[in-house]
Amino acid sequence: MSLSLFWRAASWKAPQACRQVSTYVTKMRYLFELKEDDDVCRKAQSSGMFYLFHSLAPLLQMSGNRYLAPPFRASELERLLSKFGQDAQMIEHSVLIGCSDQREAWFALDLGLGNLCSSGCLQKSEMETELQGSFIELRKALFQLNEKDISLIFTAQALLRWHDCHQFCGKSGHPTQKNVAGSKRVCPSSKMIYYPQMSPVVITLVSDGTRCLLARQSSFPKGMYSALAGFCDVGETLEEAVRREVAEEVGLEVDSLQYSASQHWPFPNNSLMMACHATVGPGQTEIHVNSQELESAGWFSLEEVATALRRKGSPSSEQDGALPFWLPPKVAIAHQLIWEWVQKQSSSSNLA
Ligand SMILES: [Zn+2]
Repeated sequence: MSLSLFWRAASWKAPQACRQVSTYVTKMRYLFELKEDDDVCRKAQSSGMFYLFHSLAPLLQMSGNRYLAPPFRASELERLLSKFGQDAQMIEHSVLIGCSDQREAWFALDLGLGNLCSSGCLQKSEMETELQGSFIELRKALFQLNEKDISLIFTAQALLRWHDCHQFCGKSGHPTQKNVAGSKRVCPSSKMIYYPQMSPVVITLVSDGTRCLLARQSSFPKGMYSALAGFCDVGETLEEAVRREVAEEVGLEVDSLQYSASQHWPFPNNSLMMACHATVGPGQTEIHVNSQELESAGWFSLEEVATALRRKGSPSSEQDGALPFWLPPKVAIAHQLIWEWVQKQSSSSNLA
């Protein structure tokens, strides 16, 4: 599903059947209403479903070799909160993360952040026993998350983190107040309105026509290589950010670039990843690695990349030394960029 998700972004077309359009539009209009009208949203909470977190770690249950994120009804949540020694008012800290086609609203609530709980509260491990699951750090659960839950959990964690970090007004220093949906925070003193933010990041797969450039940062898992990535600077266009990042990191000048797709990524802090293919001219292939940004970078042939792409997941420890390198998993947009490049190269080499 991850790949099809990205494809949808890259090659989006309006659905042909009227009924589909109207379901989508109805749903988007309803979500808009929930975000704008506190009373409607409060009402939706009473019939909605809640996904639980603890200090930004989602509650997950193992099912086979995959993690599922179990949602709870409001009535069940109230019962649990009382059992945990917490007030039902805690539900006010929840944030809207979506809704079903049948207008069932979905919320996320963090039981650990800004915990107002006094001495009678249950510890995290006791909550886990009661909830029959575990609060697992998202980075650790990422590659085993049920595909249906990934974007919901990403959105939920991003929103919960943003609210946790924006409790006070940056202008007046007064506490800010969240609306019921959590789509904004307002400072009653200065009237400043704060909306949840994402940081734009460009991720670029550079090609010289026959090879592609992959690099690794020292923070990457051992042996993993990926496309070049970096935050956009203030005032830059997407194109300028791609050209600058490539020049900065590997000392090459981009000849042309093509946008592929985008993805919300929760790490390090709510990023909007915008993926591009870029080419450099034939005389422009000598890499000068910026050691402050990268551990290493190199050109890889179609065969090397296609072989690495066929491998599933990260190499096991016993294979570790034997394998030259491995690539990011399907859930990451870098995987799609590399996959697209392999497809394009393969079809053009078949034509030749
Ligand atoms: Zn203020």
